[in-house]
Amino acid sequence: MLQPTNKRGAIGISKGGKHWQGIYNFEDSTPIVLGPVIWEMLQENWQSLLRWGKDLLQYTYWDEYLNEGFCPYCGKFDVGSPCNIKGNLYVALEEGVLAPDPEAKFHSHRPKSKPLKSSNGVVDGLWTEWSYIVNPKDYMLEVVRSVRDKGAFPAHRGLQTWMQPKYRYHSVGLYSLFNDEPDWERVQQIGQAASAYYWDKYNNPQSNKKSFL
Ligand SMILES: [Zn+2]
Repeated sequence: MLQPTNKRGAIGISKGGKHWQGIYNFEDSTPIVLGPVIWEMLQENWQSLLRWGKDLLQYTYWDEYLNEGFCPYCGKFDVGSPCNIKGNLYVALEEGVLAPDPEAKFHSHRPKSKPLKSSNGVVDGLWTEWSYIVNPKDYMLEVVRSVRDKGAFPAHRGLQTWMQPKYRYHSVGLYSLFNDEPDWERVQQIGQAASAYYWDKYNNPQSNKKSFL
């Protein structure tokens, strides 16, 4: 079985210990893409990280946060992150007529929900491959990769026959905001290597890898 290649992620605020609260990012969340964006933002806001975190957690999705709740496709505020964008393919308008829609006027919004809460990666890890956890008290950024764990658990919604593999969070690195910017390519390599190692360990035990570093 091949390793999944999703790139979803979360940006979160540490609540002490391994607990954090965050918001989802459906777009590419890999360190080489998202790392520099978050790093720059933290450098700009390091004197008011608590406020920055509070502001972040008012939103459900990262793109919504970046747009301050503004939907660029319909111009409305506070309606949720845009989705189901068909772009310039076509849209089925109310009259049932197909028409070009280059500005993606026809779209819907993801429902707003409470921030993603995390105390373990068993459930969250299924949906977020990369998480960026900011600790405002000690000015640290932790990068976390969800990795395969032993066993499976019955998925939600009562579908007991649908078993999901277990995941957990694996810390890739802890970076002080007062140090140099991390080498995001290296961060990505370490996280991917850990993910591949645990994937093989629980899915392809015969691969017999000793270590991932
Ligand atoms: Zn909209």
